[in-house]
Amino acid sequence: APILELDDIGKRYGNVHALRGVNIRVRKGEVTCVLGDNGAGKSTLIKIIAGLHDYTEGSMKLDGEETHFASPRVAQSSGIATVYQDLALAPLMSVWRNFFLGNEIRKGVGLDIDEMKKVAGEELTKMGIVIPDLDRPVSALSGGQRQVIAIARAIYFGANVVILDEPTAALGVKQSGVVLKYILKMRDAGLGVIFITHNPHHAYLVGNHFVILKLGRVVLDAHRDELTLEQ
Ligand code: ADP
Ligand code: ADP
Repeated sequence: APILELDDIGKRYGNVHALRGVNIRVRKGEVTCVLGDNGAGKSTLIKIIAGLHDYTEGSMKLDGEETHFASPRVAQSSGIATVYQDLALAPLMSVWRNFFLGNEIRKGVGLDIDEMKKVAGEELTKMGIVIPDLDRPVSALSGGQRQVIAIARAIYFGANVVILDEPTAALGVKQSGVVLKYILKMRDAGLGVIFITHNPHHAYLVGNHFVILKLGRVVLDAHRDELTLEQ
C-alpha cells in the first residue's frame, strides 16, 4: 500500500485553481518524480504535503489514514521531511546545529553540545559525507553539500516520506550527481521520495514513477516500465 496517497486533491487560492483532481501515490522504496513548468502547481503540492497549506478538495492519506497537516511541525512529526531548494539549512548556524535543528526533541534529548557534535559527525561520515569542521556555518558549504546534509538528517531522524524541492536546479553536473546518488540511498533505505524537478534527465536517472503537472492537472502519470522505448 502507498505510504502517502493524494486522491482528487484540489487547491484554490481565491479564484485561482492551482491544483485540481490530482492523484498521486507515494510508495516506500520508490522515487516519485513530479515534473512541470512554472505555474504547474508544484509549489502548491509541496506546501500541502509539508503542512504549509491545506487542500480545498479531495483527500490525503498517510499510511491509510486521512490526514490534514495543520502546520509544518505536524507534518514533520508525522514523518514528512521537506528539503527546500534555497532553505535546506539555516545558513548562519553550524553544520552540527543544523543537523539537529527542529529534531532536538526526537534524538537530541539529553545530549550535550559535544555529544550532538559527535553524533552529527558520525552520522554524516556513515553516509559518506566528509565535512572537516562541523563548527563552520553552513553558508561556507556548497549547495550540493547543503542538500546532502539535509537529506542525511531526514534519513537519520526517521522520515518516512521526503519531499525534495528542485534539489539539483542550482547545481552543476558533478554536484547534481552527488545529490542524485543520495536520492537512490533514500530509496534503498525504504523511504518514499518525492522528487520535484524541471529536469527530465535527472528524473529518469532515479525515478520509479513519473507525474507531469500542467496548469494544476496531472497530464501524465506513468511507471518507469511504461516509458520504455522498446515495443
Ligand atoms: P509551480 O511551483 O509549479 O510554479 P505554483 O504552485 O507556485 O506552481 O502555482 C500554481 C498556480 O497557483 C499559479 O497560477 C500561481 O500563480 C498560483 N498561486 C500560487 N500561490 C498562490 C497564492 N498564494 N495566491 C494566489 N495564487 C497562487
Ligand atoms: P496562506 O494561505 O499561508 O495565508 P497565501 O496563500 O496568502 O498564504 O500566500 C502565500 C504566499 O504566496 C504569500 O507570500 C503570497 O504573497 C504569495 N502569493 C500570492 N499570490 C501569489 C500568486 N499568484 N502566485 C504565487 N505566489 C503568490
